[in-house]
Amino acid sequence: MIKLDRAPKPDFLTDEKVDELVNEFKENSTSVWNNENIKEALLNSSYGKCSYCECDLTEESKYMEVEHFEDKKHNPDKVVLWENLLPACKKCNGAKSTHDVIAHPILNPYIQDPKDHLSIRFFRMRGLTKIGKESIDVVDLNNQERLVLKRFEIGSQIANSIEIAWERHATYRTNGRTQSKNRLISLVEGILLECQPKAIYAATTATVVLTDTSFSELIKVMKDEETWNEYLEELYKNAQSLVLQCA
Ligand SMILES: [Zn+2]
Repeated sequence: MIKLDRAPKPDFLTDEKVDELVNEFKENSTSVWNNENIKEALLNSSYGKCSYCECDLTEESKYMEVEHFEDKKHNPDKVVLWENLLPACKKCNGAKSTHDVIAHPILNPYIQDPKDHLSIRFFRMRGLTKIGKESIDVVDLNNQERLVLKRFEIGSQIANSIEIAWERHATYRTNGRTQSKNRLISLVEGILLECQPKAIYAATTATVVLTDTSFSELIKVMKDEETWNEYLEELYKNAQSLVLQCA
């Protein structure tokens, strides 16, 4: 989970439209939130990812659901209240179900910064705060198959990429060719691009990459040899803002 910024309310959701849709929901239980204007604006504000688990919602099998932070069963007046809607995957939405966020608050990534409430160890999230712990339980953020194994897979791929980056560095050191230098830079750039807010599972990837001592050493060497550049630095700084505590 990463901090998200809520996009402006879609023009479609005028006060009159909201009243009309709320009434329609109350009378016919219609899924009035299943509207492309709403869905598109939500997806844009979460880089196309589930706002809880960061899986890709543009993949066919995991198509997006409009999640009601204050659940629709107990809060029918808020079924299309823009501030109450989040893009979520079926699994997170289903796990949260009718959980009462007022009685037992969980993280809303559009309001709190998850990194103040969650840490990660052995690819499992841990709650740093009560709200962090509650979020892990309610949204099932440590689902073994769906998330913990996925994070492990990411960790393993990253470790492999870092090893390859060192090999490319060795090649460049040996032959001094521009082409070899560019191959090194482009791989490091690729690794850092996976740690940006728009990348899937970015909180995990940024944490794995930026806490890897081998990667830190590589950066140090690249800076000394002047193969590090401004763009890499910018990517690194963006990634830094997502890193979770490893505790
Ligand atoms: Zn999810």
